[in-house]
Amino acid sequence: MTLDTQVQAAPLDEAAVAELRHAFRGELISPDHPAYDEHRAVWNGSIDRRPALIARCSGVADVIAAVQFARRSGILVAVRGGGHSFPGLSVCDDGLVIDLGLMKGIRVDPDRRTVRAQAGVRLGELDHETQAFGLAVPAGIVTHTGLAGLTLGGGIGWLLRKYGLTIDNLLAADLVTASGELVRASATENADLFWGLRGGGGNFGIVTEFEFRLNPVGPTVLAGPIFWPMEDSPRVLRFYRDWIADAPDELTTIVVHRYAPPLPIIPPEMHGRKVVSVAVCYAGSLEDGERVVRPLREFGSPLLDVCRPSSFAGHQALFDASLPSGYWYYFRSCDVERLSDEVIDITVDHALRMKSVINTFPIFQLGGAVARVGDDETVFNSRQAGHTFNINATTATAEGFDDEREWSRGLWSALAPYHTGVYVNFLMEEGEERVRQAYGPAKYDRLKALKTKYDPGNMFRLNQNIRPD
Ligand SMILES: Cc1cc2nc3c(=O)[nH]c(=O)nc-3n(C[C@H](O)[C@H](O)[C@H](O)COP(=O)(O)OP(=O)(O)OC[C@H]3O[C@@H](n4cnc5c(N)ncnc54)[C@H](O)[C@@H]3O)c2cc1C
Repeated sequence: MTLDTQVQAAPLDEAAVAELRHAFRGELISPDHPAYDEHRAVWNGSIDRRPALIARCSGVADVIAAVQFARRSGILVAVRGGGHSFPGLSVCDDGLVIDLGLMKGIRVDPDRRTVRAQAGVRLGELDHETQAFGLAVPAGIVTHTGLAGLTLGGGIGWLLRKYGLTIDNLLAADLVTASGELVRASATENADLFWGLRGGGGNFGIVTEFEFRLNPVGPTVLAGPIFWPMEDSPRVLRFYRDWIADAPDELTTIVVHRYAPPLPIIPPEMHGRKVVSVAVCYAGSLEDGERVVRPLREFGSPLLDVCRPSSFAGHQALFDASLPSGYWYYFRSCDVERLSDEVIDITVDHALRMKSVINTFPIFQLGGAVARVGDDETVFNSRQAGHTFNINATTATAEGFDDEREWSRGLWSALAPYHTGVYVNFLMEEGEERVRQAYGPAKYDRLKALKTKYDPGNMFRLNQNIRPD
C-alpha cells in the first residue's frame, strides 16, 4: 500500500529553481551537491529515496519561499522536522524536501513557564534548555527524535501520566499554509486549526514554531530499568499489571523485551541474554519514588536493577544507543485496554521467538493525565487505552530484515482480538483505512473538512494522509 508518494513527481523547472535560489537564505541541495547523500538520509536506514531538491530552510521566509516554489512547479513535497518518521515520510523520490533542521531556535520564559521552539529542534535540545530551569515539556523517550513530527501526532513519553501528552501542553503554533500564508493557531486564534494540529500530523501546513507550557521536573528523578530473565516475563508482567493498577500519576513505566545490549550499565555476563525490563520514571520526590518502586524491585529475582536517582535529561537518553540512525526498522503498533492474561501470554510467546539481537520492543503505559483530557478536545484518539505496543523489528542491514518484519507482523496479528486502536505516529504506510481507524470515523470526517479548508490540493500528502474532499 502507498500514500500516492509517486503520483505528483514532476521534472524541475530550472528557471523556477533559480528564482527560489534568489529568494532563499538557507541551503539548497541538489543531487550534485557533495552533502546530498547526508541530507537525503533519514533515521530509518531501510528508506533510500532521491529527492530532486532539498531546501534547508533558515527561517519562516524560506519556508514560505519553498511552499510558493512548490505551488508554482507542482512538485511533490515532503516536509522534514527530525527525519524520524518510521515509514520515511519526510523524504521522497524526485520531489522537494522542505527541511526544517536548521531552525533550532529555543526560548524559555522561566517566569511564565513557557517555551517557544522552532520546527528543527530535537527532543534532547529542548530538554537541555528547559532543564536548566528544572522545567520540561512532556515529549518522547529518544533524544534525537524531532519535536515537530512527534508533537503533531500527539507525543507520548516519560511524563505522560503526570503532565499529559506533548499536545496537551501546546499553547500555540505558527504555520505556513499551502497557499504560502503564515497563520497562528491557538485556543483563541484559528481554533479549528489548533484542534487539528493536536494529533492531525502535518496535513494542514508546515509548522515553523511551537509554544508550550512548561512543568516542574527534577532535574533529578528516580528513573531507570529493572531486568529479569525473559522466561520470567509471564510472572513479571502479571505482577506489573497489578502493581500499576493503583500507580500515582508521577509514575510512568515502559516494558521492554529484548536481548540485553552491550552497554556499560549492563554487566558483560548479561550481554546477549533475553530479558524483560520495566523501565521507570518517577516525576516526583525521590523519597516517594523509592517507596512506590520498592515492590517492583523486590519482585522475583531481578538480574539487574539500575533504577536510581538520575538527571531527567540523562534518563531521556536511555534508549538513544538502541535506536540509532541507519539501522533497518519496521514497526507494527496497536493499543490494548489492559495486559490481560491472554495478552501477556501472546506477547511473551512471541518475544521469546524474536531473533534479532538489536530489537527493542517497548510497551508504553498510558493513563493518568492523558486519560483525563476529553476525547474530543484533541485529535489524539488513544486516551482511554491502557498500553501502546510498538513491535519493533530491527536489523543492522537488509540481512535478516524480512524475517524480523514477519516476526513483528506475527505478534501484531496474534494480538488483533485485543487491539483497541493505534497511535498515528506509530503507523507505517498502512493505507487510508488505517488512518481512518486511528482517528475514528467522527474525528476523521472533521479532519477531512479541515484538510479541505487548509490544503484543498493535498500539497501536504506525505504524512498519515487525510485526503481533502
Ligand atoms: C527512535 C524513535 C523514537 C520515538 N519515540 C517516540 C516516543 O517516545 N513518543 C512518541 O510519541 N513518538 C515517538 N516516536 C515516533 C515519532 O513521534 C514520529 O516518528 C515523529 O513523526 C517523528 O518526528 P520527526 O520530526 O522526527 O519526523 P519527520 O520524519 O521529520 O516527520 C514526520 C512527519 O511529520 C511531518 N512533519 C515534520 N515536521 C513538520 C512540520 N514542522 N510541520 C508539518 N509537518 C511536519 C512530516 O512531513 C512527516 O509526515 C519515535 C520515533 C523514533 C524514530
